[in-house]
Amino acid sequence: MTPFSGVDYYAIDGLLTDEERMIRKTVRDFVEREALPEIEACHSREEFPRQLIPRMASLGFFGANLKGYKCAGLNNIAYGLICQELERGDSGLRSMVSVQGSLCMYPIYAFGSEDQKQRWLPPMAAGRAIGCFGLTEPDHGSDPGGMETRAHADGDDYTISGTKRWITNGSIADIAIVWAKTSEGIRGFLVEKGTRGFSAHDIKGKFSLRASITSELVLDEVRVPRASMLPGVRGLKGPFACLTQARYGIVWGAIGAAMACYHTALDYAKNRTQFAKPLAGFQLVQQKLVHMLTEITKGQLLAWRLGKLKDDGALRPEQVSLAKRNNVSHALDIARLARDVLGANGIVNEYPVIRHMLNLETVNTYEGTYDMHTLIIGRDITGADAIR
Ligand SMILES: Cc1cc2nc3c(=O)[nH]c(=O)nc-3n(C[C@H](O)[C@H](O)[C@H](O)COP(=O)(O)OP(=O)(O)OC[C@H]3O[C@@H](n4cnc5c(N)ncnc54)[C@H](O)[C@@H]3O)c2cc1C
Repeated sequence: MTPFSGVDYYAIDGLLTDEERMIRKTVRDFVEREALPEIEACHSREEFPRQLIPRMASLGFFGANLKGYKCAGLNNIAYGLICQELERGDSGLRSMVSVQGSLCMYPIYAFGSEDQKQRWLPPMAAGRAIGCFGLTEPDHGSDPGGMETRAHADGDDYTISGTKRWITNGSIADIAIVWAKTSEGIRGFLVEKGTRGFSAHDIKGKFSLRASITSELVLDEVRVPRASMLPGVRGLKGPFACLTQARYGIVWGAIGAAMACYHTALDYAKNRTQFAKPLAGFQLVQQKLVHMLTEITKGQLLAWRLGKLKDDGALRPEQVSLAKRNNVSHALDIARLARDVLGANGIVNEYPVIRHMLNLETVNTYEGTYDMHTLIIGRDITGADAIR
């Protein structure tokens, strides 16, 4: 295969600073040299390449857009480019960074006490402590407000009981952010690995996001001190604020997966001959390639503008919904088209396309499904709530 050198039909590189391009190159090199050689084996074994965690930390990937507490303090375009390049490798790599940074470090950073920040953020940035985010339950996915996990105040402690399911990094996490209903609404709790009554069990047999750990968390009368509650937020706006951060990373990550598929399909079409000429010379194949490139280009512009709005503090969650919905669904479409262009070779792991295609099925579902984002945007523009 021709080495990957990016997809940039609209000279979007010209919108990036030297530092942003340099960061992208660093991540691209890491993915090319250190992650891609590992990923197929991890995918087939259903495990995350944990040996990469110290290196990912040393490159500043964890909590990259947070300031202080040993975080890299990058702007949101640079952070987005990290997500893009990681997901060109595998959605599992980007998921690790999203969960660690946006779903675990961010709530501690934004809503935690100073003690919680000092205790957890530096080791999490260094990859010495891994986090997971427990919101979804077996019976409550798109409707997290229906959660059944309860935390009862008991003197200076809380006892938490419930089950969280589909939790990325669950069994390898040192700290879980668990969202539970209390007498004063939904609150977030920091639950440490090894706490009595707390266990995590991996979900096996996934066809998607296999190079990522997905677990069920069981909390059976887990006793935690009151000081482990996130003091700065109550209600669903806590988990939703985290999801906005993570969805922002997905907006960029999906472009990376789409780029990998487009690059593979273009290369394949130029080199595969049928009917005495390269596939790339047939109109129907060109139409597919052009569609892929068009959607990648539109997705890049959405992501870049979103990043600028985020840096300016002007980002609305509904704008993130629009870009998450668009970029992921088009990435999935691009992956399916690329798989088609590769014919029978599209179904084997010699090429990354089928892996990305299967991964993107999860990315389309988690952090708000395609349809839930439709309804969020629909509510925003019409004022009518069609979710309930
Ligand atoms: C690999 C993986 C990793 C994950 N990691 C995490 C994690 O780390 N932490 C975490 O908390 N969760 C995680 N999730 C859970 C994920 O966020 C949920 O799967 C997602 O929110 C959808 O919930 P659900 O699967 O229960 O589907 P459901 O909510 O049951 O939805 C099923 C279908 O019904 C549709 N639907 C639902 N409500 C409506 C409505 N009102 N109107 C129209 N259609 C509707 C949905 O769009 C979807 O098509 C993960 C999931 C996966 C697959």
